[in-house]
Amino acid sequence: MAAGDKSRIVFLGPPNSGKGTQAVTLAKRLGIPAISTGEMLRAAVDSGSDLGRRVQDVMASGRLVDDVLISEVLERRLDEPDAHDGYLLDGYPRTAPQAETLSEILGRRGEWLDHVVLIDAPEKVLVERALKRGRQDDREDVVQKRLEVYRTQTTPLVARYAAEGLLRAIDGDQTIEEVGRAIFAAVRGKA
Ligand code: AMP
Repeated sequence: MAAGDKSRIVFLGPPNSGKGTQAVTLAKRLGIPAISTGEMLRAAVDSGSDLGRRVQDVMASGRLVDDVLISEVLERRLDEPDAHDGYLLDGYPRTAPQAETLSEILGRRGEWLDHVVLIDAPEKVLVERALKRGRQDDREDVVQKRLEVYRTQTTPLVARYAAEGLLRAIDGDQTIEEVGRAIFAAVRGKA
């Protein structure tokens, strides 16, 4: 990819697919910010802000935050100067309405997506990883809920982005290094 030619990338994938780790690595390599709506919300909860208080119970249950609310958070973040020339979105969009909103936001800004990277792995692997990690929102019932929410609300986006010719599907059941190499190969050279 030519210098100064920065990408706009979306990362899709179930919880514990390794998406967050890979997002940070790829973004660094491409010189674009990795924007994680989950991280932004966790920071809001930790700081006890208004936003944090509004979302903490929904997050703890493994459900999704309201589409309009999260889309406002995302759009404000995209207005920051570091997102001017490109960005990697990790965890947004997560629902069909969010994908629609993103497409409107991009249209208003005269921007487009270059790649949608899907990292997936068998459900058994995802659950094992979650329970091993043992974060507070990794209780088994919450893990199952998060997976169910992904399957019902987020997987429809796969077909949407495949139809747009943007989908780059990556096997997430490999080492971190192997997954990283596969992603880089998939996004190298503009579609
Ligand atoms: P993540 O770290 O991406 O798994 O996000 C953690 C939690 O934050 C999710 O389980 C949701 O409750 C909330 N969240 C993050 N991104 C979104 C989004 N795009 N839409 C709705 N809720 C979100």
